[in-house]
Amino acid sequence: MNQISSLAEIPVTCLKGVGPKRAERLARLGIECVQDLLFHLPCRYQDRTRVVPIGALRPGDEAVCEGKVDHVEIRFGRRRSLLVHLSDGTGAIILRFFHFTAAQKNALKRGMRLRCFGEVRNGPASYELVHPEYRSVGEDDPPPEQSLTPIYPTTEGLHQISWREMTGQALALLDQGAVLQELLPSESLPEGLPVSLADALRYLHRPPAGASVEDMTAGRHPACQRLAFEELVAHQLSLREARQNLRRLQAPPLAAGGTLPARFLARLPFDLTGAQQRVVEEIAKDMASPRPMLRLVQGDVGSGKTVVAALAALQAVEAGWQVALMAPTELLAEQHLRNFRHWMEPLEVPVGWLSSQVKGAARRGVLEGLAAGVLPLVVGTQALFQKEVRFQRLGLVIVDEQHRFGVHQRLALRDKGAEGGLVPHQLIMTATPIPRSLAMTAYADLDLSVIDELPPGRTPVRTVLVSQQRREEVITRVRAACESGRQAYWVCTLIEESESLQCQAAEETARQLSEALAGLRVGLVHGRMKADEKEAVMERFKSGELDLLVATTVIEVGVDVPNASLMIIENPERLGLAQLHQLRGRVGRGSVESHCVLLYHPPLGRQARERLAVMRDTTDGFRIAQKDLELRGPGEILGVRQAGEMQFRVADLLRDQKLLDPARRVADKLLTHRPGVVPSLIGRWLGHNTRYVQA
Ligand code: ADP
Ligand code: MG
Repeated sequence: MNQISSLAEIPVTCLKGVGPKRAERLARLGIECVQDLLFHLPCRYQDRTRVVPIGALRPGDEAVCEGKVDHVEIRFGRRRSLLVHLSDGTGAIILRFFHFTAAQKNALKRGMRLRCFGEVRNGPASYELVHPEYRSVGEDDPPPEQSLTPIYPTTEGLHQISWREMTGQALALLDQGAVLQELLPSESLPEGLPVSLADALRYLHRPPAGASVEDMTAGRHPACQRLAFEELVAHQLSLREARQNLRRLQAPPLAAGGTLPARFLARLPFDLTGAQQRVVEEIAKDMASPRPMLRLVQGDVGSGKTVVAALAALQAVEAGWQVALMAPTELLAEQHLRNFRHWMEPLEVPVGWLSSQVKGAARRGVLEGLAAGVLPLVVGTQALFQKEVRFQRLGLVIVDEQHRFGVHQRLALRDKGAEGGLVPHQLIMTATPIPRSLAMTAYADLDLSVIDELPPGRTPVRTVLVSQQRREEVITRVRAACESGRQAYWVCTLIEESESLQCQAAEETARQLSEALAGLRVGLVHGRMKADEKEAVMERFKSGELDLLVATTVIEVGVDVPNASLMIIENPERLGLAQLHQLRGRVGRGSVESHCVLLYHPPLGRQARERLAVMRDTTDGFRIAQKDLELRGPGEILGVRQAGEMQFRVADLLRDQKLLDPARRVADKLLTHRPGVVPSLIGRWLGHNTRYVQA
């Protein structure tokens, strides 16, 4: 073993006690070499380094205590148990055993000194240790352990004792000079973090007496932060690598500055905002290049992303290539279709429509048009991903509301253009604002554009919190708004995942409201309705034939009816901030002042109260996102991507926000100055997970 010096090259089977069977169990956890073992970190610790005075023990503590036996008895309650009363001058505690032998009982004598380890619980008469480990000790036996006892996440058939033996051997190898490669230049580490990776790992596997267990389990300890930092760098590198891989491919250069975009702009009833112009230029420049664009456009609800998408589409069409625009829901896709048809018809650019609802001859027509290249533009849902959909010359893919699509889905669409070795450009639009550092970390494989300006003339939506107890007043308010010629949404939410329950609830609400608001025209949309039914209702609402639209959260994204100036959201406490923000974005699109009533169900918990207060106090999507991040963590904000594809071992995007920017800078430096370490870093941290990135 001496001649192999790198821990990454020593298989676990070289360790004492690790045979083929155990190696197989370890492999299930992704542990193949000794280095992997060192990266398998304890999830918590026991402190057996000091003896805690009995009087200081609290329920839930796992601790060592020591005392004299005052009394031993057998109790015959519901379950027979052996009780040992122990005290040390600071307090008394009971050791309780349900299983015991006569010999065990007889060995426990009054006056004997015992050292115990166990979890403190509340007993009927006093604190208790149930089935503690114990042994008899002398007056001044040395403390039980030198370092804190690590507890490892494990799998069936691997006991803590084995983990300690294995990591103990791994640490011994490290001490004997086996190499654990330091891949980060020491000067690149943020201040206050241990410089050596080996030291950080040693510390976490065998923390010295007195180490802060709380800091370590919360990941705030500098040793954890040292690892988190390296992990963030590794993640960054893997996303960058994915991007570089894509950038190595060829895309059709789609020249900017044609007549179609110009004619489109000339017909628009408004001027682009400065932010829209800037983003349009960024996109136009990307698309003119033979390297595939991969750009994420972030823009708050109502910031005008659709126009930006239309301009990109026209640039591609003018260059003679096809465009696919995809949205996550039927309703949103339909709305894009209407917008695009309205804009494109005068320019004589036909727009096709494809969703799972499109069948028979209509479907065949679209598929043939796309395959033959006579249909330059198609709008649709996930149905656009299906195998049978072929394009003749797909040059641009636009995905709206990206956070609902996974990377895999995007890759599937990308491959649709792969014929002739060319891949399409990709434009991704999201209305979920994400704090910049987080976005740049989570979307390191994308370029980022932000539309950080709303079109002029918008009055911010005023939001109020009203209890369900005042529902009648709210209904009166809806009546007043509608009678003065405006329109309103009434959004029903239900915590249940079941769509059918949600729809039932919406149906019931619509019935009640029609009754209470006799004389007003009330419509209903929910996810269970057929596409054409939904469309018909939306159309009637849009054209002003309906006063009130009762809806489930299907109207969350995209729906655009400027005359709607009042929104009631029932039980808003059940929704996340991002979703509430999306919903509220459906009003405030015209020039009259709009209102949003959050009709909550009392009593509100502390967190719910805090969240709703954020909604009341700001309409700035980025501030809301930051708050959502603090309250619920990044998973909710990043959606699919975070949940499925950004799993960290040590790092935590919320807790470690301070590390995000430095990690990104270090990744940049490594890519230019030390590309050789990149694969090792990625392999060490992402190991078997890197597949998706290379896909
Ligand atoms: P989102 O970014 O939420 O998708 P939309 O693209 O749906 O926003 O735009 C919201 C509304 O604002 C639409 O009615 C659109 O026509 C309008 N709009 C977009 N850009 C401008 C602008 N520069 N000036 C005025 N209105 C605009
Ligand atoms: Mg939109």
